[in-house]
Amino acid sequence: HNISPFLDPGSRTKANSLAIVQLSRDNLVPVYLQRPTGEHDGYKEGAVVNTKYGSYPHSTMLDVPWGSQIRASKVDTGSRGRKRKRPDGEDAGRPATDNNNNNNNNNTEEKTVETPKEESEPTNGAAAVAKPAVDDNSGFIHILPPTPEIWTMSLPHRTQVVYTPDYSYILHRIRARPGSVLIEAGAGSGSFSHASARAVFNGYPTPEYTKRKGKVYSFEYHEQRYHKMKSELEEHGLEGIVQLTHRDVYKDGFNIDGVSPQADAVFLDLPAPWEALQHLVRRRSTPGNDGWVSPLNPSKSVYICTFSPCIEQVTKTVSAMRRLGWVDIEMVEIAHRKLHTVRDRIGLNLPVDRGVNNSPKDVEEALARLTEIENRAREHARDSQLGGDDADATPMDVDTTTTKQNGNDGRQWSSKPWLDGRLVTRGEPEVKTHTSYLVFAILPREWTEEQEAAALARWPCGG
Ligand code: SAM
Repeated sequence: HNISPFLDPGSRTKANSLAIVQLSRDNLVPVYLQRPTGEHDGYKEGAVVNTKYGSYPHSTMLDVPWGSQIRASKVDTGSRGRKRKRPDGEDAGRPATDNNNNNNNNNTEEKTVETPKEESEPTNGAAAVAKPAVDDNSGFIHILPPTPEIWTMSLPHRTQVVYTPDYSYILHRIRARPGSVLIEAGAGSGSFSHASARAVFNGYPTPEYTKRKGKVYSFEYHEQRYHKMKSELEEHGLEGIVQLTHRDVYKDGFNIDGVSPQADAVFLDLPAPWEALQHLVRRRSTPGNDGWVSPLNPSKSVYICTFSPCIEQVTKTVSAMRRLGWVDIEMVEIAHRKLHTVRDRIGLNLPVDRGVNNSPKDVEEALARLTEIENRAREHARDSQLGGDDADATPMDVDTTTTKQNGNDGRQWSSKPWLDGRLVTRGEPEVKTHTSYLVFAILPREWTEEQEAAALARWPCGG
């Protein structure tokens, strides 16, 4: 079995596998790397990722360590430099958005995305690619291994998706872990599916395996979305872990050919979760349902999370849960907030823990100074032959409590100028807008008179 790059990307990029091209911090483009096939300008070039400020033949991105910086190549593909109108009508030259990303998930065609020049400036001293020739007037990108988090940021949106702050909390609350079996509906754009696949993965099944392997049973009734996601799962090597079924789960429930997935946990991102709940019970009393088996694991309490944007949906869901025997019902909303953390190298008057209380003017001035410093640090790094990568890095193994202050004047740079000064943290002024309400509940395992008798026989009281 070819292991999915989402589960084990290895140390280097490889052909016929997904990679993420990072154009700037939040501008990520998924690319299915291809070996060169075509003949162009005298050398074999194959597929190319084109940005407004540089062309990146796949050949320059293959067999390199993940995280490598790739310099643009001198490639005349006929499209570079041509001013393209974006589908949303905005001018080219602005950062690429989902609209661009949507066009960049195709395997073979030439791809064009826009990236602003300032975010793609070349760095002296960076490793040059051997061939094709480096384009000195152009930029660079970084090549990253796919992870569910990066995929969520770069995936082609076909629906609203569940974002990382929500799904990390959800997967923890429903106790998803290696070996768990999950039910998920609807699959939508597959954001949650990728995260849950990694959470339950505990090795690919081998013919002789006996251990229960983690699995996600995913359902989607929109035909095109189903097909798109099906091929994505194959491209990503996840089809053995996520089993996608084309189905209306309100009507037809969650069993596969009459066989129970025996799920340990359930995640419902559907417009009417209460309509699916009727199938998530231990037994059904409806006449004509004699052969019916529960899709839930009979020997465990089952955990559920439903994800709904409106409070009316929550009310209906909670009401159905109560009627169907779910307990510990609780609603949670994730209010995610980003903190912008920088090092204060010139004694800015922005205290570490009170950055948010500064006036907008203070912050603006401070940021202008920080930008200046960042630029100087970059220059310094270049002069000391450290390369652009190091200048931008924020090493994690650093003692962040250090508050070395060099003062405004007579400042002395150490050999690692990015470690000087204290950390300054600035919060976003507004908490991110509402995504959805999370309803959690537990369905206790069933316990019959026979099971009680058997338990007593095995562990008699006092024995
Ligand atoms: N959680 C997904 C993600 O992270 O990408 C997004 C799910 S999207 C908001 C909701 C999906 O549920 C849609 O793709 C829709 O087609 C699907 N859906 C709605 N009703 C359904 C039903 N009765 N059975 C199966 N899928 C359904």
